[in-house]
Amino acid sequence: MATVCLTVITVNEEKHFQIDPLKAPIVAEIFERYAQGESITEIVHSLNARGLKTQKGKAFNHGTLNRMFTNKSYMGVYHYSGIEIPGGVPAIVSEDTFKVVERRMAQNKHASAKNKAEEKYVLTTKLFCGKCHSMMVGDSAQKKNGNIYRYYKCASAKRHECDKKAVRKEWIEELVLNKVIKVLFDDEALDKIADEIVALLDEDNKVIPLLEAQLKEVRKSIDNVMKAIKAGIITRSIKAKLEELEAEEEQIELNILKEQTSSPKLTKEQILFALDKFRKLDLTIEANKERLIDSLVKCVLLYDDKLVITFNFKK
Ligand SMILES: [Zn+2]
Repeated sequence: MATVCLTVITVNEEKHFQIDPLKAPIVAEIFERYAQGESITEIVHSLNARGLKTQKGKAFNHGTLNRMFTNKSYMGVYHYSGIEIPGGVPAIVSEDTFKVVERRMAQNKHASAKNKAEEKYVLTTKLFCGKCHSMMVGDSAQKKNGNIYRYYKCASAKRHECDKKAVRKEWIEELVLNKVIKVLFDDEALDKIADEIVALLDEDNKVIPLLEAQLKEVRKSIDNVMKAIKAGIITRSIKAKLEELEAEEEQIELNILKEQTSSPKLTKEQILFALDKFRKLDLTIEANKERLIDSLVKCVLLYDDKLVITFNFKK
């Protein structure tokens, strides 16, 4: 297959720019095709399929075309000491074509940045690699056909320290969501989950008895100090001790209050009622899917052949 280099503009002995008559048509073709709506990927593909090579003898890629499309010398602009001289070199591409290409590039850039920003990875911080237990992080890449491939990949695998393959975003999110929905509409499973949540909330409250015991001790000490004061023993150190104990008492009381409000005791009925609300969510709405996963899924451990979902309960 023929190898054609793309050194289009060469400097001749008199330091004048000349168009290489052989290669100029290829440059013109590239601009024309992009201006008419072909994607960079398609053009790159066809150039390489024809065995064409860049100036450096390499295959074409996105970068080659991106650089070409921003190089004004193709429409005849000559750069000299920071000054643009239109018509300073022979033009290969008309100004009109160049402008169309420029506009398409700007539009595509905007579109792809927008796509990237708007896409939400709902399993972020919840999905873990079954092989090494690293977090699997969401990312995207542009495929050769121009489509965007979104995936989650093990953070260690990104550093080549784990061989877990990336998984397609849509696939894993759908899978997790379907499992959650299945549990949500399984009365028996839901009943079990509600029981476990009650037990968990009780467990959380084990902190309160500890704090109450501490409070009792502090109050006993305060009583003793007060007795000493009543008996006429008032030294500076006793007074300081009393203040210290009173501050401690206040702090413990505050901590107890905090515990009580952060983990209120819920009955099984209350929990089932709250879970039932999730059943009524309209899951054709993207935000509701997110809410469901965010509220009920604590973590997902992804193995090659199975997946383990840990549920939690966030009101
Ligand atoms: Zn891994």
